[in-house]
Amino acid sequence: MNLIIHRGAKEIGGSCVGLRTEDTRILIDFGMPLVDENGERFNADVLRDKTIEELKDLKILPSIDGLYKDEKRQIDAIFISHSHLDHYGFLNYVHPDIPIYMSEGAKILADISDIFVPHSAGKIKAEVLDKRKKVVVGDFSVTSYLVDHSAFDALAFLVEADGKRIFYSGDFRGHGRKSVLFDRMIKDPPVDIDCLLMEGSMLGRGDKICTNEDGVQARIEEILKDIDNITFLFASSQNIDRLVSAYKACLKTGSIFVIDLYTAFILDRLKEISSKLPQFDWKNMRVKFTKYHADRLVDAGHKELLYKYNERKIDIDEIIEKKNRILMLARDNSIFPRILDKVQEHQGAKIIYSMWEGYLTDKFRHYCMEEGIELVYAHTSGHAVLEDLKAFVRAINPATLIPIHTFNPEEYAKYWGDRVVRIKDGQEITVGE
Ligand SMILES: [Zn+2]
Repeated sequence: MNLIIHRGAKEIGGSCVGLRTEDTRILIDFGMPLVDENGERFNADVLRDKTIEELKDLKILPSIDGLYKDEKRQIDAIFISHSHLDHYGFLNYVHPDIPIYMSEGAKILADISDIFVPHSAGKIKAEVLDKRKKVVVGDFSVTSYLVDHSAFDALAFLVEADGKRIFYSGDFRGHGRKSVLFDRMIKDPPVDIDCLLMEGSMLGRGDKICTNEDGVQARIEEILKDIDNITFLFASSQNIDRLVSAYKACLKTGSIFVIDLYTAFILDRLKEISSKLPQFDWKNMRVKFTKYHADRLVDAGHKELLYKYNERKIDIDEIIEKKNRILMLARDNSIFPRILDKVQEHQGAKIIYSMWEGYLTDKFRHYCMEEGIELVYAHTSGHAVLEDLKAFVRAINPATLIPIHTFNPEEYAKYWGDRVVRIKDGQEITVGE
């Protein structure tokens, strides 16, 4: 079995791994980059109006024979680990006859992104993977393992072919709401692994503010206990663990969690998978409508949902009236200043910043200062800390370890010595040689 990292050997984002035998070729993940060649944040606007050939010339799309729409198909399947765009965001370019496999949760979230998120991967026709069940594609068998990550229903993959076994960690951690999955993996790891491809997002990076998701909940609670004006939560609506933490903190403090239509829709759709996720009509939950979100739902043929969510609609007057009990989900976008304007007296309002601090711009910090809003932090990473990476490698005990999804691949040798094999993007190796 031959292995090639098309992208991701020395960066976070744009993950894509190719595996092939004599007769079969598969890919794992096909993500959009997070950084451009200068290390600046990748701007998806550059994709607009460009052909696949042009994007290949710009080295934005990797050159992979038989992958793209306009070619003779040579790829037998693509397996997607989770619904973050840096792992699936380029699927819109692939040949429509290539089967795509992902978890049910990832598929639901990708479908929702297609409705609401600009530059998402479009409508994806995907087969749903059953956890711990083998899928056979030509010479390959692929078994998926549910992992704890900030993306809901994220997977790692065990790939077997030609008598070799590869384990692809995907993005994972041991400190989220599904940390039990990490513990289980450590106790009962896949064995006889020839090659472990392991993410190392946290190597050389320290954006961990709370030690775990429970810590985030406790921190939000602490903040909510002590408010005398509206509090905003800046978090991704697709970070389901975080929504649960915020909701629980609201219940404990008697606060009202105000979500938007997009978030209400996400939670509504995911209840098929987990009945424990807070829903728009649960106690202390309310929904703020915006025209943009309402239009997206109507365009997608879900007009009836507007009537459904209307039951729990909260308007700006009620928000103002109850503002010292409100935790309102928001983001750094063009709508935010308008909401703030409507709240008028917002001295002493707070923003709980609950995302990776790297997303916080100086411009926004300034804006908060000028508006007299205090920025407070409650976050924990979606990725494993060093200690957990070490436990993971110890448990799986692979013959070789290949860094992926990291800006610091050179750090691996420090911790895992000789078994680390560093390959460059585009360099093909034979597993076990
Ligand atoms: Zn991820």
